[in-house]
Amino acid sequence: MQDFKPPRDPEGWRTATRLVHGGTTRSPFGETAEAIFLTQGYVYPTMEAAEARFKGEEPGFVYSRYNNPTNAMFEERMALLEGAEAARATASGMAAVTAALLAPLKAGDHVVASRALFGSCLYIVEELLPRYGIASTLVDGKDFKAWKDALRPQTQTLFLESPTNPSLEVYDIAAVAAIAHAHGARLVVDNAFASPMLQKPLQLGADCVVYSATKHIDGQGRCLGGVVLSSKDFIETHLQTYLRQTGPALSPFNAWILLKSLETLPLRVQQQMANAAKVADFLADHPLIARCFYPGRADHPQAEIVKRQMLGGGTMVAFEVTGGKPAAFAFANALSIIKISNNLGDAKSLITHPATTTHQRLTPEARATMGIGEGLLRLSVGLEDAEDLIADLQAALAVLGQKQLAAE
Ligand SMILES: *Cc1c(COP(=O)(O)O)cnc(C)c1O
Repeated sequence: MQDFKPPRDPEGWRTATRLVHGGTTRSPFGETAEAIFLTQGYVYPTMEAAEARFKGEEPGFVYSRYNNPTNAMFEERMALLEGAEAARATASGMAAVTAALLAPLKAGDHVVASRALFGSCLYIVEELLPRYGIASTLVDGKDFKAWKDALRPQTQTLFLESPTNPSLEVYDIAAVAAIAHAHGARLVVDNAFASPMLQKPLQLGADCVVYSATKHIDGQGRCLGGVVLSSKDFIETHLQTYLRQTGPALSPFNAWILLKSLETLPLRVQQQMANAAKVADFLADHPLIARCFYPGRADHPQAEIVKRQMLGGGTMVAFEVTGGKPAAFAFANALSIIKISNNLGDAKSLITHPATTTHQRLTPEARATMGIGEGLLRLSVGLEDAEDLIADLQAALAVLGQKQLAAE
């Protein structure tokens, strides 16, 4: 069955223009804003037309589990942004990750992934795939020898996330892609933390990119969504049937939210990144902060790779307060503008304690190998004024300082 495709935009449009106009198709009413097509199905003018559409002899929509005009606009805008031949939207980031990993594989295949993964991604690789006979090996993403040593004749997919959640390690995407390709395997990259504005894994050699659109792409905390981007061949061979038959379809309403969000994505990411850089500099110099990780700082352990593969340090800052969990809790509880929540990429600055929330399922030893100490906090920097954010952090650090003095 053929898919309806909005017309491609004129070649040469730059990113900001593509994000405002890319993929737009208009109904006969000529609406300015993209329309939300809340319909599960489509009416055919004749039986012959229905037959032709099912046979793929005529383009058009058949059923919204397969595709929908609003979803198609979002997919096309994402493909233009990423520089991908094709995109498929999903109901959540995890639906996108699961599809990209599971759909091309069968029992007997093998996956190698970096250990520092988002908790649910780790579950898919470490627990779900092996249950269906797809073996997996976890490696330190920084260690090229570990990637190579983990390869088996059955290795089909390498998978990584960079920067990582929550410790913001950065892995060399081009180098891992080369290792995958030399072995005849593919590299899938979860690019949620960098956002499509700051890192282009396909240009670096990755074969497939996945996003949780819930994060920077919505960026305003409203809906879940996901997207898989790759070559036309990968999408058509591996994903199309899987997505149609298993049904993790994005709601057209959410596709519309995400489509409108893309219009402001460059502005939001730039401003959040500028704020994050200021916040990171403030935290790095504070005596109660043991360590501060921000990919945009010269003291980041992989600053060299950041320079090569990212357009900036991103919107996330990770840092460790001295005094472990009690100090991390006392500090975060004393914040007022910055909210305690585990979303990220949002207009609102959000802080989370990975050891007791997103990564609490892991043993302390497993957390330690991922650099997740008891005092580690992950801060997603939002669109507030950077000076207000710094004042908020400063006040909470003062509360923590007084508590620690009183305890001495
Ligand atoms: C949030 C996130 C996901 C999952 O996305 P959902 O939209 O919550 O399903 C996957 N990977 C990374 C890196 C994420 O941050």
